[in-house]
Amino acid sequence: MTMKTACKDEGRVTRGKYVSNIDAIQQLSPTEKSEISNVTTRFQFRASKYYLSLIDWDDPDDPIRRIIVPHPNELQRWGDIDVSDESSVTVARGLQHKYASTVLLLVTEMCGGFCRFCFRKRLFMRGNNETRFDLDEAVKYISRHPEVNNVLITGGDPLILSTSKLEAIVSAISKIEHVRIIRIGTKIPAFDPFRIIDDPTLPQMLAKYSTPERRIHLMCHFDHPNELTDASREGIRIMQQAGVICVNQSPISRGISDDPEVMAQLWNELSYMGVPQYYVFLNRPTIGNKPFHVPIVEAYFLIEEARKHCSGLAKRAKFVMSHSTGKIEIVGVDGNYIYMKYHRAKYARDEQRFFVCHRDDDAYWLDQLEPIDSMQKTG
Ligand code: SF4
Repeated sequence: MTMKTACKDEGRVTRGKYVSNIDAIQQLSPTEKSEISNVTTRFQFRASKYYLSLIDWDDPDDPIRRIIVPHPNELQRWGDIDVSDESSVTVARGLQHKYASTVLLLVTEMCGGFCRFCFRKRLFMRGNNETRFDLDEAVKYISRHPEVNNVLITGGDPLILSTSKLEAIVSAISKIEHVRIIRIGTKIPAFDPFRIIDDPTLPQMLAKYSTPERRIHLMCHFDHPNELTDASREGIRIMQQAGVICVNQSPISRGISDDPEVMAQLWNELSYMGVPQYYVFLNRPTIGNKPFHVPIVEAYFLIEEARKHCSGLAKRAKFVMSHSTGKIEIVGVDGNYIYMKYHRAKYARDEQRFFVCHRDDDAYWLDQLEPIDSMQKTG
């Protein structure tokens, strides 16, 4: 196991500074840089100096390094560019409507760092213009759909926007009466908590809109306990004090979180902070993600093992696959079968549907599995 500490005290001197050229990373050898430069021409690199300071450079398998530093194996041919078929539910530029009650707004193609396993890495690739969304158009669309009770502001990372830009979005969405929850998807508390600590106008703004009738939820993304530093805990505390509900969601990724002890520590620590783990995602077969994938059966048993070491509060997360047809919970595996259930469904016929597939220990996505009843074939 590569975990070093649950609470490293990083230097504040590194706050707010971003690196997007791997030549600036002194700890990498010239050979490593030359191998990596081939990767970054395809999949961009970006990190805060703060986040890079969490890496133990003496450990080639350091989990923070795996999250953020490019690896030559990303160039292995594997996966799709849009594996969850987000293009099919895009109703206007940067606006997705897949589940009746939820709308997604992709408001930026920038993050506090680029996770190497990002399932939306297409946003960061040359020629992409998916996020040039029109706020007026989004507001009109949501206003016309009274079934939408929650809006997820995502990207990219919305907290990378200036507070005034983010407020324009939050304020406009807040005025739509039937929207009762605004969610903000973010890895800023892990990548650059000083964005929160150093800008008191951000929590002040969110406090204005996070009311008892309509809470703002921060969908955080911590992958590993080494990200839970003093600064990231402070960032979360500030958000909680502003009345923002914080939860966590993250994928199970090879070399980062494919260890029951690591997952249990992450979920337990988060539960102490009042940030329950909400989903554990199967790492999606997105292009460039070959080094990070964990097959369904293996992931299921790793997560089950982790749950044994958690309190009831810490192990509430659902283990799900974000398939093009919906969010599918993997509820059980035995010697012969994998048992699954639609937690959210794209099509009404799949709502809450339970189904069973033949067990295949190599399968890493639903499409590779064979349902026991061929009538249950998805898609
Ligand atoms: S923070 Fe989220 S959107 Fe940004 S690179 Fe990581 S997974 Fe992708």
